[in-house]
Formats: sequence, structure tokens, C-alpha cells
Amino acid sequence: MNSEVRVRFAPSPTGFFHIGGARTALFNWLYARHRGGTFVLRIEDTDKKRDSEESVRVLIDGLKWLGLNWDEGPELGGSHAPYFQSERKHVYDHYLERLRSCGRVYERDGAVWFKVSGKPAVIRDEIRGDVTRLEEKDFVIIRSDGSPVFHFVNVVDDIDMGITHVIRGEDHLSNSSKHVEIFEALGMPTPIFAHIPLILKTVGSGKMSKRDQGALVEDYKARRFLPEAVRNYLCLLGWSPKDDREILPIEEIIALFELKQISKNNARFDEKKLAHMNGQYLRHLPPEAFASFCTPVLKSAGLISEKTSPSYLLQVLRACQEKVRDVESLPSFCAYFFTDDFPFDATAREKIFKQGDPLSRIREFLEALPSLTDFTEENLEALVGALSQAHGCKTGDYIHPLRFAVSGQSVGVGFYQLFHILGKETVMKRLAKFVF
Ligand code: GLU
Repeated sequence: MNSEVRVRFAPSPTGFFHIGGARTALFNWLYARHRGGTFVLRIEDTDKKRDSEESVRVLIDGLKWLGLNWDEGPELGGSHAPYFQSERKHVYDHYLERLRSCGRVYERDGAVWFKVSGKPAVIRDEIRGDVTRLEEKDFVIIRSDGSPVFHFVNVVDDIDMGITHVIRGEDHLSNSSKHVEIFEALGMPTPIFAHIPLILKTVGSGKMSKRDQGALVEDYKARRFLPEAVRNYLCLLGWSPKDDREILPIEEIIALFELKQISKNNARFDEKKLAHMNGQYLRHLPPEAFASFCTPVLKSAGLISEKTSPSYLLQVLRACQEKVRDVESLPSFCAYFFTDDFPFDATAREKIFKQGDPLSRIREFLEALPSLTDFTEENLEALVGALSQAHGCKTGDYIHPLRFAVSGQSVGVGFYQLFHILGKETVMKRLAKFVF
């Protein structure tokens, strides 16, 4: 680490990892990486009621999943350990003593109060410029039960850990004047702040809450979204490369990322856009990477086993990779490749039987099949072409019922590709079963 920049992500464990928190962690991480600085993870677990090992686990797993590695913090340690506030009482005692000796605290009703200066506090904000606020009232920093209050421990740790830039949600702007007061009372320089814009729900003017659809990082992980896609999407919530690109390699985002470029305006969460981006990332994966990402999903859906031929599996997944939007829906999208016992879609059936004579088209195809020795995509295409000419039909009159008969669906991977992958034997068997 060759730079003075030290930033931190300081979550309070709540049992879930909200995408707002993930975006805050991401912006800190991006800035640290951009400046060659240090990214600290500090767990603000002073609220005993809610904090638990499990809650911390959710955060750590989510950060790791998103690839946001920290340089100091839980699991790694570092020169400012410990990184759990619940283990730092000695540090808070020390700083409380310092405030006491300079006459900036007093006790009332068993609590310890901080005496405000009466002068306006200047919050140096990279996104908003200087924000000046007057703290008019003294405030509690140690409750009567002895537990320290967020404002105090947050500032003490930022001082003690040498934090240079505080990048956090705009909802904390109202706390920052209190924080500046404490920094100054302790005779410490204030860090540079960057209060990043809120994330609004998809519809309306409300802030995204944990109850909103798509709000939790762990859900994306469970639904097997690609972490790179989620991370790329989160980058765009308040930041942009200032051209119309949206999909960017993370190295490039790191190179471009500046606090001053973060928008002052609230960002709007759009789950559809995130899903779309995930689809694009899936399509651009190397086929082998796509296959190893998807294999466990097909396994747990019971579609494949050790007996499944690896080359057949790879062929199926290559075909699916071009079409599927998310890995979650992959099992239903491709089940018919692995079992004869697949469902027939009722709407698709209705559409196919509404016009023409689909069963005759299938029979014509079946009759011509024995002559087709090589079951290649080209040969299949030529056969369908020849049949439609001979019977005065359109190629679609064959393709739609044939696809439906072997897959139970009206959409899916390319038609000729589908038949080629299934192979002659399976195709004949399924067609025969369908028409007779
Ligand atoms: N524990 C605080 C929170 O989760 C940290 C705020 C900050 O980043 O300073 O909101």
C-alpha cells in the first residue's frame, strides 16, 4: 500500500446484507483500489440485541461473494485490531478520558454527555462541497447502562484507525456535524466525507428497504446471479463512466472511479435492468466457466448425475448460454434435454393446434427421417426446406409443432441445434409418441 488513503466499510450487523450497504462497501473498495489505499472492514456491533455471529457471517459472505476483499478487518486482522467494536472498549475508555480532561463531557442522569462547541461544523464533502451545520444541543455519548453511542465509537474508530475518507450513505449526513464536533474536540483533523446518494425503490419516491423485492445481496447469491453482474450494476447506482456504457470490466471502473464524479441525485433501483445485465454477463462467460457455474444447479434440480455425458452436458449448456436470462430458470428451460418426462406448455399447445395440420407435418417429417443418415444442423435444415416445398407449406409449419413435440415448449434454443443435440433416436421416439 503506497498511498495514505484509508477508507472503511463499517456495517452494523442486522442479519441481512442490504444492497445499499453493498453499494457503500463497493464505493469504498473502488476508491481504495483506485488510490492504491487501504480498505478496512470494521464491524459496528455495539447493539447487543441484534448482533450475532450469524449476522456478521451474512455480511462477510456477501462481501466475499461480490469480490470486495478488505485489507484489514475480521479474519485478516491488521495493525489496528480488533475490528469489532464490541472488543474495543479500552480504546473508547481512552478517548473518553481525553474528552474529559479537556472538559468536553459531563454527566447527567447517569449518562455521559458531549458538550457542543456552539460554532458551526464544516463537513468537507467531495460530492456536495462544504456543508456547514450548527449543532445546537449537547448529546449523549455513553448511555446510563455504560454502552457507548454510535456517534462516539464511530468517530473514535475513524481516528484510531487513521481513516482519511468517510464514504457512506446520505442518510448519515445529519450525523456528520456531530461527528465533526467530536473530531475537533479531540484535536484531530476531520476526514474528507463523501455522502453518497440514496437508493430509491423501483417505483415511487421511497428509499429501498430490506422488505423491497431485490433488496438483499444474499438473495442474488441464492438465485445464482453472477456476482460480477451484480457488482457492475451496483457501480451504476450513483456513478457512471460519463459515456453511455453500462457494462465495464471492474479494472476499468477502478481506474476511472473518482469521488467527485459521484452523483448528488438519488439513484433508482431497477431489478429488471440488473436481471438484464446478469443475462449479458452470462452470455459473455467462456463456455467452460458457464458450464461449471450451472452444473451444480442442474444437479440439485435432479436433471443430471455422474452418469450424464460431460460432452453432451457441455453441448446443451453452450446452446442454453445464448438464450437463458438467469441460471435460476435454467432447469425448467432445459429439462427436456435430460428427461423424456417433461411438461407440455398448455398455451404453446393451443397456439400450435389453432391452425394448419401440425400432426400431419410431424408425420411427414418422421417418414422422411430414415433417409437422413447424418443428423447435422445443415441436413436437418435442408430436410425441412425440402418438405415444405414438396407440401406447399412454410418451414414454420414444421418447425413449431416439431419443437413442441420434442420439448413441450414453443421457445428455447435454436431449432436445428435442438434436434441435433437431442439426436436422431430421441427425436424419433418423442415424435412418434406425440403423434401416435
Ligand atoms: N454502522 C454505521 C451504519 O451501518 C456506519 C456508518 C458509517 O459508515 O459511518 O450505518
